[in-house]
Amino acid sequence: MARKILAAGNWKMNETPSETKALIAEMVKTCASDTVDVLLCVPAIDIPAAVEAAKGSNIQIGAENMYFEESGAFTGEISPAMLVDAGVKYVIIGHSERRQYFAETDQTVNKKVLKALEHGLVPVMCCGETLEQREQGVTMDWIRQQVKIGLNGVTPEDAKKVIIAYEPIWAIGTGKTATSDQAEEVCKGIRDLLRELYGDDVAETTRVLYGGSVKPANAAELFAKEDIDGGLVGGASLKASFGDIVNYAK
Ligand code: PEP
Repeated sequence: MARKILAAGNWKMNETPSETKALIAEMVKTCASDTVDVLLCVPAIDIPAAVEAAKGSNIQIGAENMYFEESGAFTGEISPAMLVDAGVKYVIIGHSERRQYFAETDQTVNKKVLKALEHGLVPVMCCGETLEQREQGVTMDWIRQQVKIGLNGVTPEDAKKVIIAYEPIWAIGTGKTATSDQAEEVCKGIRDLLRELYGDDVAETTRVLYGGSVKPANAAELFAKEDIDGGLVGGASLKASFGDIVNYAK
């Protein structure tokens, strides 16, 4: 079954609400596409401006994080119900920067994935190895552990909705892209794991993205790989030319 390519942006801690409005107004034009799904994950405070600016376009708006509790005394956190009410459909969970700077673990990622699904949000669950792990030859062991724990307790029906983003940490924001073969090898490994855990139907339906210095110049080669269903894009999603990634085939 053909999986639709997804071009997903991760703005990280960039753009104010006014800048968001102006940038998305441009992106509505450059990112128009009938064949590729387009998602922009933006800082929480930018969500209302982003949802408003993207209205009527093919751009979907996502969040970059959420908490795994329903509500209560969790100062500074954002709940899934708040995201849904604000018009969000997707949420990045477990980005390597959240793991590195905000002490997220595979266990908290799992709680967030389950909670997002409970609220009808699509989790974009991130995994990825360090350069040291790659050099030690444990990349696939590490990724399998991250994905297995992250999906613990997720039903097959829900697993089909989850988007898994493979992002080698050494390729994020460094300009060093994994070769398309390196990226394909791990994305295929993730699909093989999905097959082991859930069977063929889930393995063939669930989208697996590559992330790490994706740009207009390398998107076509990466997205042409059998097991890469699009990209999670940081730096290059902060410009209207993100549309060249969306329209990679042209
Ligand atoms: C990311 O933020 O997830 C990412 C892959 O960043 P960049 O594209 O800038 O490497």
